[in-house]
Amino acid sequence: MTTREITDRIRQLKEEKHAVILAHYYTRPEIQDIADYLGDSLGLSQEAGKTDAEIIVFCGVHFMAETAAIISPEKKVLIPVLGAGCSLAESITGEDLRQWKETHPDGIVVSYVNTTADVKAWTDVCCTSANALKVVESLPKDKQILFVPDKNLGAWIMKKTGRQLELWDGNCCVHQRITAEMILEKHEAYPEADILIHPECACASDERILNLPEAYLYSTAGMVKHAAQSGKRQFVIATETGTLHKLEQDNPGKEFIPLHPETICREMKKVTLEKVLEALEKEQHLVEIPEDIRKKALLPIERMMKIS
Ligand code: SF4
Repeated sequence: MTTREITDRIRQLKEEKHAVILAHYYTRPEIQDIADYLGDSLGLSQEAGKTDAEIIVFCGVHFMAETAAIISPEKKVLIPVLGAGCSLAESITGEDLRQWKETHPDGIVVSYVNTTADVKAWTDVCCTSANALKVVESLPKDKQILFVPDKNLGAWIMKKTGRQLELWDGNCCVHQRITAEMILEKHEAYPEADILIHPECACASDERILNLPEAYLYSTAGMVKHAAQSGKRQFVIATETGTLHKLEQDNPGKEFIPLHPETICREMKKVTLEKVLEALEKEQHLVEIPEDIRKKALLPIERMMKIS
């Protein structure tokens, strides 16, 4: 089948089955182009809760589709590639967190949304990179906070809020490679450009970056908003390169330079048009979560939604 035939068939099946396609900014451009909603973790979670579609085809990695299934148990949530995983989500299990909590019985667990349903079930409140500061600032000052699983995001939150967090030693294999030296080198090459940096990057809490006037730390949705509102013409993008597709589409005439062309999440790129079509045709792969875990995992997500 040609690409055109595949996308036409996807659109037809979507209508017939009353399905909606949610896609993350890091997916392939052709997936972003067929999505009904494109967003980052927070936006996609919110959209999963709002949609009245019967089927959600979630184009992203497994924990994201799980989050949609936690929020919308009455809908069929399908993930086109069952094996699309995330190094960050895989850095901690529910059992790891249960054991860590035992050593800090009075601590509050804040989990980045990049976690499995099992981990969320042991969590007090979730956060995303878009609302992490707000979530942490909302917690009682005299409480110890256990932050999982991204140590870079956690270190950035500590710098920005002045609060001491206990950090789990996890990271995103894509953002972990982005160092302060890479940012400073790019700044020298493009001194007029704003540099938009994801707080999962290894350099997120480096003073040299935090003190750089042209550097802004944002969630992916924050980057999209900043680029649209800024009077600047040139931007260096320090996150997964899939984001450039949306930035370029939204901002003709502005230039977006990837910090490094190999900043690619291979797991996100596993989702292809063929896989989306197969998911819709066969109604596969259904994301199922045991009801007792789902109910527990929903509470920290709801707390986050209320705060943000
Ligand atoms: S970019 Fe990193 S955090 Fe996002 S899905 Fe890929 S491995 Fe996970």
